[in-house]
Formats: sequence, C-alpha cells, structure tokens
Amino acid sequence: MFYEDLSEYDYQDDDTFTDSASGFYGLWYRPAYTRLNVGWLEAGKPYATGTVPAAFVEKLKAVQRVQWMNVCLGVHECDLCPEGEAPEGNGEVRIPGEPGIAYAAPFLITHYITAHGYRPPQAFIDAVLTVDLDAWASVRWPDVPFPWIPEDAERMSE
Ligand SMILES: [Zn+2]
Repeated sequence: MFYEDLSEYDYQDDDTFTDSASGFYGLWYRPAYTRLNVGWLEAGKPYATGTVPAAFVEKLKAVQRVQWMNVCLGVHECDLCPEGEAPEGNGEVRIPGEPGIAYAAPFLITHYITAHGYRPPQAFIDAVLTVDLDAWASVRWPDVPFPWIPEDAERMSE
C-alpha cells in the first residue's frame, strides 16, 4: 500500500484504539482532525532516505508499546524485504501534529526507518519527539490506552 508522505489519509473512516492488554476494542470514532499519511512505502515507489536521530527511533518504538490502533485490518507485510524474510506489522500509529492534524503511519514505519533507510518528514520527527510518553501511558479513555484527547472529545463521548 503506497501513499505519498503528507497526503491526506482516507484509508479508514474511523480511528480505532485497542487495549493491547485485553485485545478489547474500546474506542473508535470518526476523527475531526485531518490525518496526514507518513511512511506508507511500497516496492517500486521512491521514498525519502537519510539519517534520523536515534532518540526519534527509540521514542517511536516506545509510542508503539503504548498505542495500538486500527489493528483489525489484517497483517501488512514489508514488500521491500526479500520474500520470506519480510517482517509483518498490524495496525497503525497516530501522532498529533499541529492543531487539527494527526500523522497516520503504518505500524511497520519503524522497520522502514531502521532497515530501509527511510527518513520521514521533519514535521513527523518533531511531533514524535514532543510526545509526552508518561502522559500517554497513563491515559485511559474510558478503558483504553489512548494517546491524546482530541479537541472534539466531548462531542464524541455523548
Ligand atoms: Zn523490509
């Protein structure tokens, strides 16, 4: 599946956050924020490469231990790797950016960075680095580990 970096995400209407401990689908909604694609690579499609800060990669991995979302769509395999050696990923990542914006990346984005030299847009790197992981790890809404409370949270909870 290929999407241009920073194009508008329209793969799924809803964003669904899951409690990784129980596997219970706890929270889904149609987001009011605009989702921008990051890191949807595919063999044969050019992508940006370059070094990224080690702290960024570590932070992104840490985010993925806290947040589990859009996991119901089946497994996605890296098709840049040789067949049979390709890791699989399930789900996506959401990282809030500017007000009204969230970045939408596939779970495999960390693999693309570390194994294939992919360099995401700087705005995404900055957004990941500013995530308050302690806050994210502690938020439940209502029972699901949830990265941040969107501006329209009150309306959604009605
Ligand atoms: Zn790969």
